[in-house]
This record gives sequence, structure tokens and C-alpha cells, in this order.
Amino acid sequence: MKVIKKIDEVRRVISGIKSQGKSVGFVPTMGYLHEGHLSLVRESIRIADVTVVSIFVNPAQFGPREDFDEYPRDLDRDSEVLKKQGVDYLFVPEADEIYPQGYKTYVEVHDLQDKLCGRSRPGHFRGVCTVVLKLFNIIDPDISFFGQKDYQQAVILKRMAKELNLEVKIDVMPIIREGDGLALSSRNKYLTQEERKAALVLSRSLEEAKSMVGKGQTNSATIIKEMKEMIGRESLAKIDYVEIVDAENLDPVARVEKEALAAVAVFIGKVRLIDNIILSTEE
Ligand code: AMP
Repeated sequence: MKVIKKIDEVRRVISGIKSQGKSVGFVPTMGYLHEGHLSLVRESIRIADVTVVSIFVNPAQFGPREDFDEYPRDLDRDSEVLKKQGVDYLFVPEADEIYPQGYKTYVEVHDLQDKLCGRSRPGHFRGVCTVVLKLFNIIDPDISFFGQKDYQQAVILKRMAKELNLEVKIDVMPIIREGDGLALSSRNKYLTQEERKAALVLSRSLEEAKSMVGKGQTNSATIIKEMKEMIGRESLAKIDYVEIVDAENLDPVARVEKEALAAVAVFIGKVRLIDNIILSTEE
């Protein structure tokens, strides 16, 4: 695996690969890798001829009071793990390589960026879209891999790709969880033992929603009330949002018809965690 820090160099390498007619798979990450990231990496290795992973903690997607400085980083460990998986190239640009001084250009997907996480993280998806479009332009992948864990991000990026006529295919992979249900996240590292237990309330509330729908309950307000009560009983948890929305446009739905998305964001202590599940009346 070759580690590359500079845009010029990664472009040179990729154009060489493309001129041989090989396909390029791309997995953008912020590092501190776990099995969730690795599921995307394995899929890329399975599908594409050459796999490029990026690690870049993107300052543009963190708010001023968010955890950019504390965000966990361990490049040595991440490189080892990716090498073992069989990744071909690891792109790790410095912040000023991506955002040189005086940087002015940003990409927004209106409306979708203001829902769910966008409400409590203004500017977050603008930062995500900007960095992902830049990385797409630099890497020029045929296919890229994202996780359903960040469902809204995937919806927004697909919309961006469609509306900006990008040719890259975007594949969304299932959420990887711990044995007890907790969705893997780099931010789980922040949790104390007690908080780690409390964090189970996210996946439990989503399972409860799924089970209610399974038993014929399709009224969103009733399901959300039950979920909020469940999360409310956990003293370390503070709800940011609990919503049931259309799986495509992310607007709240009054009833679960065919398919909807249940999405939660909950503070466990100071750590904001997100999780989601598809609710289906057709299972
Ligand atoms: P991040 O490093 O948090 O920016 O995540 C990089 C990619 O990994 C994103 O596409 C995430 O949606 C995906 N991802 C993060 N956690 C998980 C998980 N538990 N299961 C599957 N994919 C994940």
C-alpha cells in the first residue's frame, strides 16, 4: 500500500491506473478506523480493480463548538489495518492541501442539508459535500462507498452527484454494529464504561420502532412517543432528535407506508451519537 499526501501525486498515480483500463474504488473516511469502515473497504476491494482510501478529518464539517480538535486520530494503526486488508493507496492530505489559505468555494444541497442532523449541525453537510466533491475530483473514482450509518449524508451526496452530473457511482453499505447492537463509530471511543451501556438506548429504541411496525403500528407519532419515553428513561441520554421520515426526501411522515426511516441523534453525556433503521410494512 502506498501512502500519498499530495494532490498532484495521487492524480498522477490514478491517471496511470485509468490509462490501463482499470476501475478505481474509493472509500473516504476521517480515520480511526473500525469494522464499519472496513466493510466499505472490503466491498471496494471486491468490486474495483484498485482501491483508494482517504483519511482526512475535514475541518469544514465541524462546527465551532464541535470536536474537531479532539476527534480521535491514529494514522499508524489505520495504515497497518488498511495494508492488511489489501488497500492499494491511502490518501492523507494535510488541511492546507485541501483548503489553501483564502479558500472560498463551497457546495450545498439545499433543503436536504437542513433536516435531521442539519438542524443541530448548521454548515455540517456543506462541509461534507465540499470535501467529498473535491475528493471525487482529485481521485476520479468509478465507484465510491459510504455507510448507511450516516444515512442523511448518503442521501445528500447521491443528490449532489446526480445534480452536478458526476459519473461516480455511490454505493451505500449496511450499518455494522457491536454484538449488543451499538452502531460502530469512531466517537464511541469517547464513551466511559457507564456511557457505553447507556448508548445502547439508541439501537434499542430503533429496534422497538421496528417491532411496533412489525405488530401493525404504523402511526409515526405513537412510535416516536414510545421511542422518546424509552430514551428518556436513560438518565445519561439527552435527545437531539427522534424522527420518522420519508427514506428519500427525509420529510417527516405521519404513517409508515411501505418504507420509512427512523433516525435518532442522542447525546450520551457530551457525546452526540446517531443511528437509524429502515422501517418496512412489507416484511
Ligand atoms: P467517517 O470516518 O465517520 O467519516 O465515516 C466514513 C465512512 O464510514 C462513512 O461513509 C460512514 O457512513 C461509514 N461508517 C461509519 N460507521 C459505520 C458503521 N458502523 N457501519 C457502516 N459504515 C459506517
